Amino acid sequence: TRTKLPKVGTTIFTVMSQLAAEHRAVNLGQGFPDFDVPDRLVDGLAEAMRLGHNQYAPMTGIPALRDAIAEKTERVYAHRPDAEHEITVTSGATEALFNAIHAVVRAGEEVIVLDPAYDSYEPAIELAGAVAVHVPLDPRTFAPDWQRVRDAITPRTRMLIVNSPHNPSGAMFGAADIAALTDLLRDTDIVLLSDEVYEHIVFDGARHESVLRHPELRARAFVVSSFGKTYHCTGWKLGYCIAPPVLTAEFRKVHQYNVFCTFAPAQHAFAAMLREAPEHYEQLGAFYQAKRDAFAAQLATTRLIPLPVPGGYFQLVDYSQVSDLDDAAFCRWLTIERGVAAIPLSPFYAVPPPGQRLARLCFAKNDATLEAAITRLQAL
Ligand code: PMP
Ligand code: GLN
Repeated sequence: TRTKLPKVGTTIFTVMSQLAAEHRAVNLGQGFPDFDVPDRLVDGLAEAMRLGHNQYAPMTGIPALRDAIAEKTERVYAHRPDAEHEITVTSGATEALFNAIHAVVRAGEEVIVLDPAYDSYEPAIELAGAVAVHVPLDPRTFAPDWQRVRDAITPRTRMLIVNSPHNPSGAMFGAADIAALTDLLRDTDIVLLSDEVYEHIVFDGARHESVLRHPELRARAFVVSSFGKTYHCTGWKLGYCIAPPVLTAEFRKVHQYNVFCTFAPAQHAFAAMLREAPEHYEQLGAFYQAKRDAFAAQLATTRLIPLPVPGGYFQLVDYSQVSDLDDAAFCRWLTIERGVAAIPLSPFYAVPPPGQRLARLCFAKNDATLEAAITRLQAL
């Protein structure tokens, strides 16, 4: 048969989690926390189910949750989106990314992605009949070279996808990036898709430069977030998209016939959680910073070299002192022979930088999990 996604296999996250399970490795590969969801959120979910919120939610998300998202956005980014016309609740960030791409990108158009890029972008672009144009980030700092992005723009460019804090590197945009991005898009009709799922996991007092803070950018942007990352519940698959009314209207056409609506009980639980416990997202950076610092200190006792982590919950390590294997082979070897699962970076690239010896470790784990991994990594 003629397949639509000939280059696509099973995602590296599934492949490495299966390999980890098979070999009883400590799984620092696929990004998910191994600690509990906050009690009040679990209670809120159970309560919502008991109260009978078990049928279809409104297509765009329950009003209480969209209001709570508007309120949170105002509190954090000093901009209040219109809950009625600018916010849509989705089945995780993944659905939001897919909808945003399909809402505006037509066959034959181009979408610029910055490599390494999260793996769901390109298949969604290809399913739209469009072409992903890959622009590499700096192979060490993962900073964008905005001139190279500018050079990649053609009359067919319909969308640019950005991701800060960045998966897999943790790199974050600074004010200069926002200025360059704003300048770059001015006088074009390019739509910005900003993947901000790690918005609350930022360190060292840095400010997350959400596109929502910046009027000129947000006027042309879909901004995507995920409750899974913020509330330790990646399996609940709830997220949202904020975009101006015109973009949201198109977005909702896709959402409506993709899933129609999302898991109703969790919407009630998150509405209450956002309102009643803002300290959860306000303290998330400090919570993860302690994990980042403890993990990096322990890694210093191994031959893996940790790279700086400005945000997110992934630690990149340079393994060149340990092995000459390419990253895919190294991560398989590490999982099977040394009992620690990691994610190679090459699947995040159209063309991986030659000789790059980096692997991604997830530190969204209990201390005991990280310590078990370190004991094994010390033997490398
Ligand atoms: N974007 C990025 C950068 C991610 O890391 C993830 C989750 N790994 C997603 C999107 C998808 O988020 P969700 O689980 O809410 O669909
Ligand atoms: N976003 C997670 C990661 O980067 C994985 C999500 C998934 O497994 N699809 O590890």
